[in-house]
Amino acid sequence: MQLSTRNLLGIKDLTKEDISLILSTAEQFKEVLQRPVKKVPSLRDVTIVNLFYENSTRTRFSFELAEKRLSADTINFAASTSSAAKGETLLDTVNNILSMKVDMVVMRHSASGAPHFLAQHIPAAIINAGDGINEHPTQGLLDAFSIKESTGTLEGRKVAIIGDIMHSRVAQSNIYLLKKMGAEVTVCGPPTLIPKYISEALGVNVSYNLKETLEWCDVANVLRIQLERQNQVLFSSLREYSLAYGINRTLLDSLHKEIVIMHPGPINRGVELDSDVADSKQSIILQQVENGVAVRGGSFLPSRRKSRPPPFKNGKARTSGAPPSQFLLLIEKKATIHPKKKPNPTRETTK
Ligand code: ASP
Ligand code: ASP
Repeated sequence: MQLSTRNLLGIKDLTKEDISLILSTAEQFKEVLQRPVKKVPSLRDVTIVNLFYENSTRTRFSFELAEKRLSADTINFAASTSSAAKGETLLDTVNNILSMKVDMVVMRHSASGAPHFLAQHIPAAIINAGDGINEHPTQGLLDAFSIKESTGTLEGRKVAIIGDIMHSRVAQSNIYLLKKMGAEVTVCGPPTLIPKYISEALGVNVSYNLKETLEWCDVANVLRIQLERQNQVLFSSLREYSLAYGINRTLLDSLHKEIVIMHPGPINRGVELDSDVADSKQSIILQQVENGVAVRGGSFLPSRRKSRPPPFKNGKARTSGAPPSQFLLLIEKKATIHPKKKPNPTRETTK
């Protein structure tokens, strides 16, 4: 059971089978996370750097927690407190980190395509934790995991994505994933926040009418207005946006059915969602966060396939790391940590 890709740069590159494999691995890992001892040795001897050039709360914490639960060694990099603030380039920073023998890079960057650029230049496997307005693949995966968990299936589900579609990497990853898995998708928001040819390009329905969209869908994934990514005025005011596209209790009660409410966070309460909706029984927002740890654990799988990453520049063969197939096996066997004495392969090469 292997994925078709080594790096996890976007849902666009994944096959339906890849997505199913990550989701089922996440399911197994979620079971591990419910145990009294929540740790398995699947990533023992693997060193991961979490490289965050842009702020994050949920994504960074859940990656870190998943790495710890899988016994990886981790280091954290925040651009604001590093030499990037002194003008070092992305490639220099990463090559310096890699020379400390790092196996995987989890990366968030405000520039779309930054992880794709890095993937062409470094041997370590890369997981995209959000690049500009392009993709946020692990968010797409955790949203799909949560929809499946709460409604039973993705196939045939009617999912509405509501809000600032134009600037949302979450929307893009969700659309790619849901379409691949057979769900129907409608994007809804003000015309200025929905890309013009999205319907033709991505095969989604477009609606500017919130009430009609909510009547249609089984699940509403509500997005924040991403002001930090907008460089022009695209609607008159947050208050007006909220009047036309904010979801409140009265609106939900006027529907003829109960729909599931989702949000990737951070919520701007009172703008896109009122508190009595965000905190209601219909909302699975905190389940999404919980599932984030399981799915991020599952997302390490593509990077562990096949052989170890190629040697570093100095030509020395890499020597540490468990065989890739261990990941699934260890979870399936419900193993906890049991350090087995293995011959140290580095010893042969050190004189
Ligand atoms: N869901 C986003 C993330 O965790 C929002 C945040 O960072 O607060 O990356
Ligand atoms: N946390 C998500 C992201 O990083 C959504 C957001 O920021 O609104 O894209």
